[in-house]
Amino acid sequence: LLGSDGTPAATIFAEMSALAVRTGAINLGQGFPDEDGPVEVLDAARRAISDGENQYGAGMGHPLLRSAIADHQRRFYAQALDPDREILVTAGATEALAATLLALVERGDEVVTFEPFYDAYGALIALAGAKHVTVPLRAPDFAPDLDELARAVNDRTKVILVNDPHNPTGATLGDAAKRRIIELAERHNAYIVTDEVYEHLRFETPHVPIATLPGAVERTISISSGGKTFSTTGWKIGWAMARPELIQAILAVKQFLTFVSGTPFQPAIAAGLALPDSFFAGVADTLRAKRDLLSTGLRGAGFHVFESRATYFVVTDVSPLGFTDAVEFCRDLPQRAGVVAIPLSAFYTAEHRGDAASLVRFAFCKKFDVLDDAVARLGALV
Ligand code: PMP
Ligand code: GLN
Repeated sequence: LLGSDGTPAATIFAEMSALAVRTGAINLGQGFPDEDGPVEVLDAARRAISDGENQYGAGMGHPLLRSAIADHQRRFYAQALDPDREILVTAGATEALAATLLALVERGDEVVTFEPFYDAYGALIALAGAKHVTVPLRAPDFAPDLDELARAVNDRTKVILVNDPHNPTGATLGDAAKRRIIELAERHNAYIVTDEVYEHLRFETPHVPIATLPGAVERTISISSGGKTFSTTGWKIGWAMARPELIQAILAVKQFLTFVSGTPFQPAIAAGLALPDSFFAGVADTLRAKRDLLSTGLRGAGFHVFESRATYFVVTDVSPLGFTDAVEFCRDLPQRAGVVAIPLSAFYTAEHRGDAASLVRFAFCKKFDVLDDAVARLGALV
């Protein structure tokens, strides 16, 4: 967790956002929207503050939010959850991931993830003292090879940690891969932890949580958050869903990480989860149009673009433009074009960074005119 000079290393997201601020470049690096989410959600937070919901809340989370999460899971996934025993509200998906890994994993256990992976996974697995085993996702479609997946899981595997939809690639996991994960977890008595924070940001097929597939529910901890769906990444309201015994184990850790957090934001996210289906469809439709705008623009500018099927990220290859080093490319991009992007190598172990040598991630969760401007700037690159 320390940089080469021994001081804490900034995350790639903090580093690239600071670079955007310093240079005045358009920030297509760190993934956060540049517009507010639904007014119903914002108003509900203001109301909760006015109504005095400003002290420590219930340890498991606001009852309104837990019941809204249960309703949401029933509405979208036909999943039945007990809001009092099977749902735990956390400080973002990040705390849910941290508490879950710290609760389940012992020093020396193995945790399997795909690679590239969201940066927090590597750090949290290290904090838990576990060994990080990765399964590569390769361009162009970033789908796992199921034999490689099978070879990565063994009796030392405590957790298979799955991010679906997937940051940074925008890939969604197919049915066969999900079933293989369940089969492997069963065979080797491992838990499945799923990070589904992009569940509503899908452009092709609807989301199917692994926990709803046969054989999964007893051993699966599903994690999501309100940040992406409601454009409230700064509120950090997340949740974990699992069988009561597992939730108790996660709560035992969570209570000493933050205890509780974000009291007035919890009923506000509950209001968001209760919005009609048309809201959720609208989120995906708007982002699909933004994906198309940026992807078409990047192709026109000479980038090789890998189709993004979900999230608000798209991966590109800069080698057709004559660049071979994505880290250097991203470092110089603010000066050269007034845009910030993230080298995909930030999502790899040191050992496998070479696999992403010329790959760059762009975020498209920005206003249409900002994306237009970015496309024009990138079009003038070469
Ligand atoms: N998981 C993934 C895959 C992410 O991209 C992010 C980033 N925002 C998070 C978790 C963190 O979610 P939260 O802000 O709710 O902690
Ligand atoms: N999830 C966001 C991304 O991938 C960033 C979150 C963060 O800054 N930690 O860009």
